[in-house]
Amino acid sequence: MANNHPPLVKGETIELAIESLNHEGEGVGRFRGFTVFVPNALPMEKITVKVISLHKNYARALLQSIATVSPQRVIPVCEQYEQCGGCQLQHIAYAVQLQLKQKTVEAALQRIAGLSMPVLPILGMEHPWHYRNKAQVPIGQQKNRIVAGFYEKRSHNIVELKCCHIQRQANDAVIHTVRNILQTLGITAYQEKEHQGLVRHVLARTSFATGETLVVIVANGTALPKQELFCNALREAIPNLCGIVQNVNTRRGNTILGKEDITLWGRPWLREKLEDLEFHVSPRSFFQVNPSQTSRLYQKALEYAALSGQETVFDLYCGIGTISLFLARSAAKVIGVESLAAAVEDARKNASINNISNATFYVGAAETVVPSLYKKGFRADVVVVDPPRKGCDQVLLETIIKMSPQRVVYVSCNPATLARDIKFLAENGFNPVEAQPVDMFPHTNHVETVVLMSRVK
Ligand code: SAH
Repeated sequence: MANNHPPLVKGETIELAIESLNHEGEGVGRFRGFTVFVPNALPMEKITVKVISLHKNYARALLQSIATVSPQRVIPVCEQYEQCGGCQLQHIAYAVQLQLKQKTVEAALQRIAGLSMPVLPILGMEHPWHYRNKAQVPIGQQKNRIVAGFYEKRSHNIVELKCCHIQRQANDAVIHTVRNILQTLGITAYQEKEHQGLVRHVLARTSFATGETLVVIVANGTALPKQELFCNALREAIPNLCGIVQNVNTRRGNTILGKEDITLWGRPWLREKLEDLEFHVSPRSFFQVNPSQTSRLYQKALEYAALSGQETVFDLYCGIGTISLFLARSAAKVIGVESLAAAVEDARKNASINNISNATFYVGAAETVVPSLYKKGFRADVVVVDPPRKGCDQVLLETIIKMSPQRVVYVSCNPATLARDIKFLAENGFNPVEAQPVDMFPHTNHVETVVLMSRVK
């Protein structure tokens, strides 16, 4: 560029050729050398855009019209795709979505972290629709109408949900029904700004394996007016309902679930199944949202663990003990660590339901529990970690390095923190062997990866 000023201004309409996609699936073009990001635009497209914001090194712009359409563009299946913030990639052919996620993982591991490790071709879905077992949507009020649906892109306006094509249909029915009942009974919706009103979110989980549905109503308070009428109406409309739970969240802010659960009807847990193992899942516990891809992910994690039956295995961030119990059948002993107490209770029950006696679970943050176990003399032959998006704590990684297991299997939902953590392990005696991306979340810009590292002899 000849000078330091961006060659465009906010509000300007320009023509642009899109060259690539960023890791969020947005089109990337260059206007006189200056980078412009355009949601919903695809490589090879010639488009007209309106600049909506200007930053030091890039601009963001909205698509106005397309002069040359990419052969990779498809018509989104969902009629609400343009407004809804739930999916980001429905306008891109599924095969191209997979290429994008493959590249995202390769870029994070190989290009940015500089790790020389093979990344296997991503495992995609044959039918990438209606794969989610869980729906969680905010409830709001627009004039006199209660609304339920996902947030609009980059906002807290609710787009009323009609039919969501990535989630199990039974969960749509729960959302519609809860909305109608709240409206009929005059139960109020929570209003964020005023911190007033009652119902904040509705959460539905339907098991693919058992067909049953658990409903959680997140409320700004402990009482639910007309509770019996509410439960009766919901039970009548949803055939395989197993329980209705009220979760109490009276705090301001974006955290969805509070710490208290009140059972309104039925039992406060869902019976789930993966392969031949059964699981008890309580309302706040984590359970993977895409069951068929979860099986493939866990299989890969098990394969990477390469157990002979003699090993002590640590499963960190173990949730309700899903990976732990698959591991336990091929190991001498499994130790699971998880910070949510309710999930650890589930994990212990799950070991017992499945007659598994060689798995022990600890409640607490992995970065405090594992160092204390290490001090007491515990050692692992294999360590599996499956942290949330922010990745592993540095103290935990340092303890794993001191423990010196033969293998580390890292399951991740965020390629950036995965790469950061793997790089640290690679600098401290572990060899990155292989990575396997898995498409757990088709039509969204999320990708799951499992990585094998082995100790340098
Ligand atoms: N491996 C499990 C759960 C993975 S989700 C499965 O596949 O189902 C990540 C889990 O880590 C959640 O259950 C969350 O409650 C837990 N968690 C978050 N921070 C943690 C920490 N610092 N230490 C231990 N567990 C943590």
